[in-house]
Amino acid sequence: MFFRNIPGGMRMAGTGTVTELEVHDVRFPTSEQLDGSDAMNPDPDYSAAYVVLHTDGGPPGHGLCFTIGRGNEVMAAAIRSLAPYVVGRSAPATAADLAALHHDLTHDSQLRWLGPEKGVMQMAAGALVNAAWDLAARRAGLPVWEFLAALTPEELVSLVDFRYLSDALTPDEALALLRAAAPGRAARAARLKAEGYPAYTTSPGWLGYDDGKLVRLAREAVADGFGQIKLKVGADLDDDKRRLRLARDAVGPGVRIAVDANQRWDVAEAVRWMTALAPWTPHWIEEPTSPDDVLGHAAVRSGQPVKVATGEHVANRVVFKQLLQAGAVDFVQIDAARVAGVNENLAILLLAAKYGVPVCPHAGGVGLCELVQHLAMFDYVAVSGSWEDRVIEYVDHLHDHFSDPVVIDRGRYRAPTAPGFSARMKPGSLAAHRFPDGPVWRARQRPRRPHGEQEVPV
Ligand SMILES: [Mg+2]
Repeated sequence: MFFRNIPGGMRMAGTGTVTELEVHDVRFPTSEQLDGSDAMNPDPDYSAAYVVLHTDGGPPGHGLCFTIGRGNEVMAAAIRSLAPYVVGRSAPATAADLAALHHDLTHDSQLRWLGPEKGVMQMAAGALVNAAWDLAARRAGLPVWEFLAALTPEELVSLVDFRYLSDALTPDEALALLRAAAPGRAARAARLKAEGYPAYTTSPGWLGYDDGKLVRLAREAVADGFGQIKLKVGADLDDDKRRLRLARDAVGPGVRIAVDANQRWDVAEAVRWMTALAPWTPHWIEEPTSPDDVLGHAAVRSGQPVKVATGEHVANRVVFKQLLQAGAVDFVQIDAARVAGVNENLAILLLAAKYGVPVCPHAGGVGLCELVQHLAMFDYVAVSGSWEDRVIEYVDHLHDHFSDPVVIDRGRYRAPTAPGFSARMKPGSLAAHRFPDGPVWRARQRPRRPHGEQEVPV
């Protein structure tokens, strides 16, 4: 689907103009191998609503929203509804351009009604904001993490929408945080390029894997240099005890094992379940309950001994603010494609820094590792200034569909060097996995449909 030069967009001579918005519904049949399976998502087909911003002078910008199958067409439609804000606009190049675009995409008074600032429309805005950052960084010849880290503290503060935040973080406080980190930027960037950023792997722990595969992959993770793995939990307590014991035996006492319930429990159940798993010393319990339940997370944190992490489904900066104000989390898990792109994630990084809570990004899916590594690295260089107790999730799926895939070396993300956001998918992968008419899906007819709906021939 293409949109061209819709009237009403802004235009500046000589800087290049966004001429087309390309939107793809791309899906991968990952449910066939139970890759990505957990207590709430037993059959995910990893998918992306993928966008390309074409320009008439310079490189295109690439972005995406991650979904897990049905509903990806809804996400694609939401992105298309925002086309008037990008097509015909001057290609964003500066912090001011990127702040204005983020504001416009999240403040359409009619589309905002569908949120506000949450759910499908927020994610759609995020895909376009991130594509704009990809475009701007490519024009500057820098990877996004380095493009961000080259901005002044004043420019970074100008990117953030502080509405609803000022009771927890004011622009002046954010500026002070960023100024305090500025003198060490160059040294940390050099160290990051030399050493890479710490990672952990979820690949051994999908709920659909049998015990043998769990043990084999856990051992391989340690051999590959990872200091932390993660297991999915929450379907059956006895199974979780057995799997956690097997994993602990496989990796030894010195490797961290986080566990992830993917929102499965009520608060009391989370407390009971994690109290039972505590003897195997999980490093954190991730998403123990609803991502909207701030006080519930606080109760889980105070009711059992395992640290609490959440964020991959947290809708916006306001909920992150409350999680931090309520002392509800030990780790903040940003997601590059859940909120409204780089700008809103910058707000969340600043909030986490203010409250002294480590950010351990969620990744996996389609392209989430590629995207979020830039945000974590920027945080290390220019915001928190630390990678202590911080790790980026890594899942070893689907990277070969990207032109600049992540590089993992001895359990660490190597700092990207290619210009942009690492978000460009290979044209052949896009064509093969386009839903429902790409050859991968034609060969499978239609995916399973819920509740006995009729199969639709393609
Ligand atoms: Mg998770």
